[in-house]
Amino acid sequence: MFIYRARVFDTPSDPFAGGALRSDSDVAIVVDDGQIIARTDFAAAAAKHSDAEVVDLRAGVLIPGLIDTHVHYPQVRAIGYLGMPLLDWLDHCALPEETKLGDEAYASAVAGDFLTGLTSAGTTSAMVFGSHFASAMDTFFSQAAEVGLRITSGLVTSDRILPEPLLTSVEKSVSESQGLIDRWHGQGRLRYAVTPRFSFSAGQELLAAGGQLVADNPGIWVTSHLNENRDEVAGVAEMFPEALDYLDTYDRAGLLNRRTILAHNVHPSDRELARMAEVGAASAHCPTSNSNLASGFFPLRRHIETGVRVALGSDVGAGTGFSLLKEGVQAYFMQQLDPSGGLPLTSAHLLHLATAAGAQALELSDEVGDLSVGKRFDAAYIAPAEGQPLAVGLEHASSDEDALAKIFAMGTPADIARVWVDGEPVKG
Ligand SMILES: [Zn+2]
Repeated sequence: MFIYRARVFDTPSDPFAGGALRSDSDVAIVVDDGQIIARTDFAAAAAKHSDAEVVDLRAGVLIPGLIDTHVHYPQVRAIGYLGMPLLDWLDHCALPEETKLGDEAYASAVAGDFLTGLTSAGTTSAMVFGSHFASAMDTFFSQAAEVGLRITSGLVTSDRILPEPLLTSVEKSVSESQGLIDRWHGQGRLRYAVTPRFSFSAGQELLAAGGQLVADNPGIWVTSHLNENRDEVAGVAEMFPEALDYLDTYDRAGLLNRRTILAHNVHPSDRELARMAEVGAASAHCPTSNSNLASGFFPLRRHIETGVRVALGSDVGAGTGFSLLKEGVQAYFMQQLDPSGGLPLTSAHLLHLATAAGAQALELSDEVGDLSVGKRFDAAYIAPAEGQPLAVGLEHASSDEDALAKIFAMGTPADIARVWVDGEPVKG
């Protein structure tokens, strides 16, 4: 048993629905077998649990583990290419790298790089866009299980437009996907997601085969891309003349439900937003990627007003790194700049988007997303080195909301000293 004595920030009540930051300057979180069994003042906790090991974290700030709802495992080595729109970026940067994962040794090294990227950044749960190669997915799931993160992921499927090594057939995609589901879905903290790359590179039969997998395997997830770039949206409309819109290409294939997370949705129609709200599908908002590829301004206000769930994604490697602190502040920047009128965000909104909202999108709210009694202890400890600007900022912050804003403005993975999943350390 452990007592974590800390300054704690979390958002159990949604700031988008009138909630506010919950901040405690000195509170004891009692963790037994990975679960938070008490959250109280230190004297009471120490008296009641005299056998517990006390971990003093008052030099920094403890937050819930960060949750990344869109991040590509095969693209960790493709981060940092600048200056191209989506379809050029895929052709020149992402897809050549992704073809290399057909080599098992290469895929194994990339999986290690990728998982280190997540844990370093304080990410404890993620919807991970997988590889086109089943062998690379086995390697990834196996390493993810060893590290211990809460990972939902699956084989990426495409049967047109992409380079030949990345293409599959309906039959092959079904047999490989079912094998991966049988081997990995529900193993420890792992879950499977049917993952067509996007309708732009997946024909109707391939999409429908994914929908059949969802019907045959209750509880599995779906993830893909939606409405990222205007050329892509126009291309999909041309390829699927019978579909109502881009979202409908997934919907009519049986891929749209409460366990569906769609990345980007920068250019949605009102019908698409209403349909996502109706079925409970979530958008993964990836602001550094949207900025890097000049995809556009994410219509956060329209999502919130329509009741569509939104969480943050880093979209490595079009995004510029694994830090959800950076994604949070970039989301804030883009809402500030949106010429059509963005939604003003406070630091509490940013923390919510990076933690509790991700837990909701991944249907993990009963377990993680905040540091309340009954939750699993997934947490990140932010402790900048003494004298660094973030440490100075935290010391002189005018309020807890201000301190949290400084964490988003200045925090980097180097400031995240320790990370736990289920009470087990995964960093530090
Ligand atoms: Zn993506």
